[in-house]
Amino acid sequence: MKLTKSQREILSQKYDGKCAYCGCELQKGWHADHIEACVRNRSYVDGKGWIFDGTFEKPENNHIGNFNPSCPKCNINKHQMTIEQFRDSIKQYVQSLNKYSVQYQMAKKYNLINETEIEVVFYFETIK
Ligand SMILES: [Zn+2]
Repeated sequence: MKLTKSQREILSQKYDGKCAYCGCELQKGWHADHIEACVRNRSYVDGKGWIFDGTFEKPENNHIGNFNPSCPKCNINKHQMTIEQFRDSIKQYVQSLNKYSVQYQMAKKYNLINETEIEVVFYFETIK
């Protein structure tokens, strides 16, 4: 569903103008995230690429109550994941940085990185 301007305004205030996930201030161009994914059906057409047909794999998830305000980085990284899959994905980032990022490895070697074992807690989980 495409949100109306007033629906977007209400959604942006769901967590006082902050991203539901990381808690940063929402900027112009913030995303309306489907909490439970609502995958758009598409098919590949030669010469045209992926074409969305306007239908959804889980149309029951396409309602205003299933939206969270999100910064683009959180929304794009969450993609079609559930909240718990997104949490697990973020948990893997440090492991991945240690394995693949030479810059991260060097920064760690020079004590610029302080790794912790804290749990990934989303901003909306800290609000009551
Ligand atoms: Zn965010």
